Amino acid sequence: MADELLWADRPSIRCPGGGLLEGELRRRGVATARGPLYVDTDHAAAVALRAVLPAARGPAGLGVAATGQASSTTAAAVSAAMAAVLAVAGRPRSVLLAAPRSFCAGVERAIEIVERLLAQRGGPIYVRKEIVHNRHVVDGLRARGAVFVDELDAVPRGATVVFSAHGVSPAVRAEADRRRLKVVDATCPLVTKVHAEARRFAGQGDTVLLIGHAGHEEVEGTLGEAPERTILVQSVEEARRVRVPDPGRVTYLTQTTLSVDETAEVITELRNRFPALRGPASDDICYATTNRQDALRSIARDTDVVLVVGSRNSSNSLRLVELAERTGTPAHLIDDARDIRPEWLSGVERIGLTAGASAPPGLVDSVVAALGGLGPLTVGERETTRESIHFTLPAAVRRQS
Ligand code: SF4
Repeated sequence: MADELLWADRPSIRCPGGGLLEGELRRRGVATARGPLYVDTDHAAAVALRAVLPAARGPAGLGVAATGQASSTTAAAVSAAMAAVLAVAGRPRSVLLAAPRSFCAGVERAIEIVERLLAQRGGPIYVRKEIVHNRHVVDGLRARGAVFVDELDAVPRGATVVFSAHGVSPAVRAEADRRRLKVVDATCPLVTKVHAEARRFAGQGDTVLLIGHAGHEEVEGTLGEAPERTILVQSVEEARRVRVPDPGRVTYLTQTTLSVDETAEVITELRNRFPALRGPASDDICYATTNRQDALRSIARDTDVVLVVGSRNSSNSLRLVELAERTGTPAHLIDDARDIRPEWLSGVERIGLTAGASAPPGLVDSVVAALGGLGPLTVGERETTRESIHFTLPAAVRRQS
C-alpha cells in the first residue's frame, strides 16, 4: 500500500486516500503493509497498480503492489480493490463538518487521568473496562502501558486501578476496597450526577425508572445504586408495559448518551401513565450528547451521506448514525478512513462528517485528508454551539503533576 509514490525522475506524490484502498483490500481478505511505492519496481511484482488524480491539494496518488509470491486470487483482489476506489475517485466533492463533534470534557478528563498515571507511576496501570468507548484511544493507551480488564479479579492486590468514564456500581467500589486496590475514579461527573439522583430518589421511597440500554456499562453502574428500587426502561413499548408498586411515587432518570428525541417520547409515555412522575432537576442526557445531535441534525439534511467517526460500542456515536438516518440521509459509523466503503461515495457530492464524544479529533482530520485524496474537495463547517466545559482532574493525579 503506497503512502507515497516515488519516481526516480520526478517529485514524489503523496497518497492521502490510501486508507480507503487499505480498507477495501482488507475487506477482500488481503493483508496490507503501508510504505512508499517505488514506481520503477513493478518488474518484481505480480501486481503493481498506481494512479495519479487531481485532488484537494495538488495531485494525489493511489498505489498498491503485491509481491511476486502473491496468488492469483490475491492479485485479482488487489486489482478489484483498486478498481473499486478509482470508480469513485476524481470528481469534486464537499465535506460539511458538524460542530461540536469529537471529544467531550468527560472523555478528555478520563484519558488525561490514565495518561498522567502512566507518566507519574509508570505501567502497568489497570483500567476496569475501556476507559472510553473508542478503539483507537484504547489501543493507544494499551501501547503505553495501560492494562484493560473486564473485572477487578484480574487486577493484582494493591495495584492502581482506574474506573472508566462510564462509572461503576457500589458493588464494584466495595470489591476494590476488599482487594485493597488504589482506585482513581475517571467516572464523568455528569454520570456521577445521575448516580446521586438514583440514590436520592430511591432513598425517598420512589421507584426509579431508568431509561437506557441494557448491558451498557453506564446503565449497569447506575442500576447498581438502588437495584431493588430501579427498573430499566429501554423503549416506548417498555414504558407502556412497566409496572411499579406505587404509581404515585415514580421518578425517571436516563443514561447520559441517549437520543434526545426518542427519550422525550419515552418520558411522554411515562407521564401519561404516571401523572405524578418526577424527573431530575436538569437533563441527564449530557450537554455533549445533546450538542452533537443538534449539530448533526443541522447538517444531515444538506448532505447526501453522513459519516460518523466512532466505535461500535460508543452509544452516542450510534445515536448520531440513527439520527441522520431518521432525517432521511444514509449514515455510516466508521472507526477511521479504512472503514469507508467506496460504494458509499458513488454519486455522492456532499458528505456530512461528525464524530462521537469518544472519538479523537485527529481521526476526523485523517478522514478529511483521505477524502481529499480522492479528488477536489471543499471543506466547510457548521457550528451550532460552542462548548467551553472543562472538568477538574481528581486530586490523586492533580497533586503529582
Ligand atoms: S458523553 Fe457526556 S456523560 Fe459521557 S463522558 Fe462525555 S460529557 Fe460525560
